[in-house]
Amino acid sequence: MQTRTESLQHTMMRVPLTLPHFLERAAKLYPKVEIVSRLPDRSLHRYTYADFYRRARRLAEALQRAGLRPGERVATLMWNHFAHLEAYFGIPCAGGVLHTLNLRLHPSDIAYIARHAQDRFLITDDVLLPLIEQLRSQVSFERIFVVPLAGAPVPAGYESYEHLLDTATGSWDYPPLDEEAPVGMCYTSGTTGRPKGVVYSHRSLVIHTLAAALPDALGLSQRDVVCPVVPMFHVNAWGIPFAATLLGCKQVFPGPHLDPPSLLELFESEGVTLTAGVPTIWLGVLEALRREPDRWKLKLRTLVVGGSAAPEAMIRAYDQLGFHVLHAWGMTEMSPLGTVSRLKSTLVDLPEDQQYAYRAKQGLPAPLVEVRAVSDHGEVPWDGKTMGELQVRGVWVAASYYGGEDPDRWTSDGWFRTGDVVTIDPEGYVKIVDRTKDLIKSGGEWISSVDVENALMGHPAVKEAAVVAVPHPKWGERPLAVVVLREGQQATAEELREFLAPRFARWWLPDAFVFVSEIPKTSAGKFQKAKLREQFRDWSWG
Ligand code: AMP
Repeated sequence: MQTRTESLQHTMMRVPLTLPHFLERAAKLYPKVEIVSRLPDRSLHRYTYADFYRRARRLAEALQRAGLRPGERVATLMWNHFAHLEAYFGIPCAGGVLHTLNLRLHPSDIAYIARHAQDRFLITDDVLLPLIEQLRSQVSFERIFVVPLAGAPVPAGYESYEHLLDTATGSWDYPPLDEEAPVGMCYTSGTTGRPKGVVYSHRSLVIHTLAAALPDALGLSQRDVVCPVVPMFHVNAWGIPFAATLLGCKQVFPGPHLDPPSLLELFESEGVTLTAGVPTIWLGVLEALRREPDRWKLKLRTLVVGGSAAPEAMIRAYDQLGFHVLHAWGMTEMSPLGTVSRLKSTLVDLPEDQQYAYRAKQGLPAPLVEVRAVSDHGEVPWDGKTMGELQVRGVWVAASYYGGEDPDRWTSDGWFRTGDVVTIDPEGYVKIVDRTKDLIKSGGEWISSVDVENALMGHPAVKEAAVVAVPHPKWGERPLAVVVLREGQQATAEELREFLAPRFARWWLPDAFVFVSEIPKTSAGKFQKAKLREQFRDWSWG
């Protein structure tokens, strides 16, 4: 027996936190639950977790037989569908690293990223071969495996993904996997400078999955039918495919059909209860629902909105339709979950307007994520007013970029500088005021472009609005609003100014309103403010 003074050891097992557990659990407990994918010809591909399990393991075995060594990168360039999910598990279970390439980037940027990551193999969709042709000369993948979604024969120079799976025997066991081993790789969207790589570990991903599924985070249950509209190349579709597999939820993938009627039709036919995507997607879906309110019978409960700020008007509009918009903030460097905006039990009795003001903020830090806001004068108080740069720390936050690039993004005491300017209120809700570079400095004072554009999007005639800084001879910079009106609606600059006037100090109001048919967006659907700033740089203030 130990004496009281001997140092006490814990008596718990040390089981590595690795991905094969997800696959094993789903197949043992939920073999009959379905995974449904919309194919390019709009037909639905259906199979069960039992099928998925067999194929993901075959992929792992086949990759090992093809010579994949631990830590080597296998890139994917794919839409959201069953084969991409197979890659999400098959590659890591083989000891490889899943590197999701963003198909919306320019071909030369995709090639740069694949070269930079030293991707060895590529798995892609047959319908994306025209894109591959544009970048193939710029990057040398050893082998390219093509998923026959459209069913056409695989052209010369490529190999069939199905033939790759056929090389597996099916009697195979997982290699030993260290929880600290790399599992996935994703590049930042690179709005400034070259994209940079973030490498996730089994451990960071497993813990992120548990936290993301919690009721106060995304709130997933096995009984949910989950449809990530956010691309699987955008920070692991926010971790949803991993969480849904661990829990055994029915999963529904939209393939390449992301227009509002196609999404709504899929939600209806498959009984989707939880979905996720950027605000642009949900603004379009809202328009479609308003145009034809009785067309779709939906079981939808939650729309997770992130990637850009969810306008308060949009949250209110969906509430009226009976759907809960859950506003969340994250980053590639954070796997991506950072904050989620749910009302605390002590705030649910507030007047409605105040409740919405909280829900439109980016929210409370997730468990295991620490936040602080820092200005030139040090850490700022949590008073909901003082702005500072948001810095974060946590188990699933990157400690460096691949190759050690841009080390200045980390403080000397080990926090990651997000580049987002925020206030944090006394309740702990984080509110993003701007990206550091998007803030507008007028007469030496800061204006939050995000606040003004979100208010503008509350005007009934406005579909989208972006507010940017334009050089001004007297004030240094002044705000200019770029506005897209809703179909068939009218509004003048005067009306919009009057609409904003009660909400802001006079000097925050945009001095000019420009009406356009579309706002340029990044590959992830965010407003490309840098492009707008460039476009209006020589604006004549008159
Ligand atoms: P990415 O790494 O591509 O996911 O981009 C991360 C950046 O997107 C963050 O630093 C924010 O600037 C922005 N972002 C993500 N979610 C939100 C949100 N809910 N509200 C405002 N900005 C957001």
